[in-house]
Amino acid sequence: MSNTRHNWTKEEILDIYNKPFMELLYEAATVHRKYHDPNTVQVSTLLSIKTGGCPEDCGYCPQAARYHTDVEGNDLMSVQQVKAQALRAKASGSSRVCMGAAWRNVKDGQEFDDVLEMVRTINKLDMEVCCTLGMLTENQAHRLAEAGLYAYNHNLDSSEEYYKEVISTRGFEDRLQTIDNVRKTNVTVCSGGIIGMGEKTEDRAGMLVALATLNPQPESVPINALVAVDGTPLEDQEPVSIWDMVRMVATTRIVMPETQVRLSAGRTQMSREGQAMCFFAGANSIFAGDKLLTTPNPDVNEDMEMFKMLGLNPQKPFIKKMQPNTVEAEDSKFQDLGEKPKWSRPEHKIERNEEAKEKVKTLR
Ligand code: SF4
Repeated sequence: MSNTRHNWTKEEILDIYNKPFMELLYEAATVHRKYHDPNTVQVSTLLSIKTGGCPEDCGYCPQAARYHTDVEGNDLMSVQQVKAQALRAKASGSSRVCMGAAWRNVKDGQEFDDVLEMVRTINKLDMEVCCTLGMLTENQAHRLAEAGLYAYNHNLDSSEEYYKEVISTRGFEDRLQTIDNVRKTNVTVCSGGIIGMGEKTEDRAGMLVALATLNPQPESVPINALVAVDGTPLEDQEPVSIWDMVRMVATTRIVMPETQVRLSAGRTQMSREGQAMCFFAGANSIFAGDKLLTTPNPDVNEDMEMFKMLGLNPQKPFIKKMQPNTVEAEDSKFQDLGEKPKWSRPEHKIERNEEAKEKVKTLR
């Protein structure tokens, strides 16, 4: 039986986060060894299947249409393009493809049907398939599950309190609702957040409380370090220190022992020594490929060299959970209901988001 706790408090998590560094590292590494093979790291490839033009105002995101960034938008990729990229990812050691679309939410219709076909196609390549498509309804989650989706990513980003300082176009509870919809299927949940957005340590702990008290806890928790992109409201944020990153990874590992902890955005700012400390502290997944949606990421060969140096091996697919079956579109039990999810539209104003939006007008 699992000993995982679901009643963590912010105070307990802060006590862990603030432990003397060596003690924290030792405790996290001990938990890690108990639940995982410490020499295995899962490698995912993140593929932006539809880039830019997003109506949301996430303060960290260069894909939000309202900010002026260098990101070039593109329409939804074709199933064939996605298949070609997935084959390349598989050949370079990835066991999972995560497809990201810059959408506020999923809308039933041709584009979603295309995504379902992409899921079927990648699952048939014997790879784990993950999607991150924004908010979705329960029926849409079932349709993805039927197509053979392995995981759905929907990050909480920060604590409930700090979320309001970063995003005004939807609420924290909308995130939880989508996670809940995914939980009604066999699809695993991937949900984490970003540090370095100007939040306090209490917010980092608050985010971990929100994740660790989910029952079951997310199977995967990405920990991102903000990559401050010019033109976004968070463009002037200082990079997160490696010490904060290791503390965050270690704390996540301790409070969510069975979870796969993903080192995500921000790895280009980290030395190999820094990344090695993160692996020791319990990180056991990375994103491979030279781009993470739109921000830079280490080259695949560099990662493989690092793996060799550290004696790490890429994890094979479907070690944690069986490969889902793929149901073909014509045999599907769940139909297109013409749905799109409802959300709370809090619409409060965030000063720095407003300023970044105004700046665009002066540049036109
Ligand atoms: S993070 Fe996602 S939802 Fe937010 S602006 Fe970027 S693409 Fe849109």
